Amino acid sequence: MQTEILKIHDPEKDIAALKRAAEFIRDEEVVAFPTETVYGLGANAWSAGAALKVFAAKGRPADNPLIVHICDMAQLDEICTGMPEMAKKLAAAFWPGPLTMVLAKKQTIPSEVTAGLDTVAVRFPAHPVAHALIKEAGVPIAAPSANLSGKPSPTIFSHVRDDMMGRVAAIIDGPGAEIGVESTVVSFEDDNVRLLRPGGITPEDIHDCLGCEVIIDRAVTGKIDDTEKVSSPGMKYRHYAPSCPLTVVDAPIDSFISYVKHHSDGKKVGILCFDGEENLFPGYEVLTFGNEGDAASQANALFTAIRDLDQKHPDLIFAREAEAGGVGIAVRNRLHKAAGFAIIRPNKI
Ligand code: AMP
Ligand code: MG
Repeated sequence: MQTEILKIHDPEKDIAALKRAAEFIRDEEVVAFPTETVYGLGANAWSAGAALKVFAAKGRPADNPLIVHICDMAQLDEICTGMPEMAKKLAAAFWPGPLTMVLAKKQTIPSEVTAGLDTVAVRFPAHPVAHALIKEAGVPIAAPSANLSGKPSPTIFSHVRDDMMGRVAAIIDGPGAEIGVESTVVSFEDDNVRLLRPGGITPEDIHDCLGCEVIIDRAVTGKIDDTEKVSSPGMKYRHYAPSCPLTVVDAPIDSFISYVKHHSDGKKVGILCFDGEENLFPGYEVLTFGNEGDAASQANALFTAIRDLDQKHPDLIFAREAEAGGVGIAVRNRLHKAAGFAIIRPNKI
């Protein structure tokens, strides 16, 4: 398939490219577009056929649903049967923004979009290009992340091009994702909120807004086995993975270095460490992911670092442990999933 590259940095100026992208969406073709979390692979949310094209382009398992993106609260009436009070409060506080809410679905959304579930995940993105595209298309846009299934989510145009060239109708070359990890996904049960995927909106943010308990789903912090029933289908899949094994070594830098030296055995070893530590590993393939103690910078850099390190084809990768707290819960979740939850604590053995 021929893939058009559409440059849209400013939706008000790049209006011809914006109209072209919107036309593809209305015509039930797939368009990759930037959002503030990661790039999305967008399809007309009313079209079963367009949704199936997204699954095909990604190589995504058919049981892993898409998120429906809106640009206007009025669109919700056509998508879901109603919103719990808690959802209304979260929308008022965090939309537009990196929060996805699982709500009861209306028949209008094809079951291909929601992988047969009777719920639909909805987000109102803040990125100006995403917003302009949904508005110009005149339809909500169903989209997962724009990576090939299993790869780290793309945060910049060149990553999307690497994965999706020839597989989709168009890719928007626009300003990259500022947050760098996918949206926070929550569902509602009784009087509480369940965190299905951590992201830019933290459990603390949600607790401060609603005052209720935020239940952290088990799948956020630990490995789920294949037979377990999960609250969000995406939890089952190994995500964000480089091509070789990745191990998180949770230790201060000195112990990290000594652990790595003792476990390199003549192999080509990749290192994921923090900015400023790169010179501590002569002879290794080294990439950094943000500053120690700064979870937001780690979120922004992690997927790029994993992708770039993977390009160097190491035999194995050792990574520093990400920051805890705030958006750190999202960074740790992605890093630990990339590691298949292989985490070593050398000082504690
Ligand atoms: P992606 O944006 O590629 O990470 O894919 C969307 C994510 O949202 C996946 O992890 C899905 O499991 C999750 N998701 C989408 N719809 C639902 C839903 N109705 N219930 C629970 N999780 C959902
Ligand atoms: Mg994804």
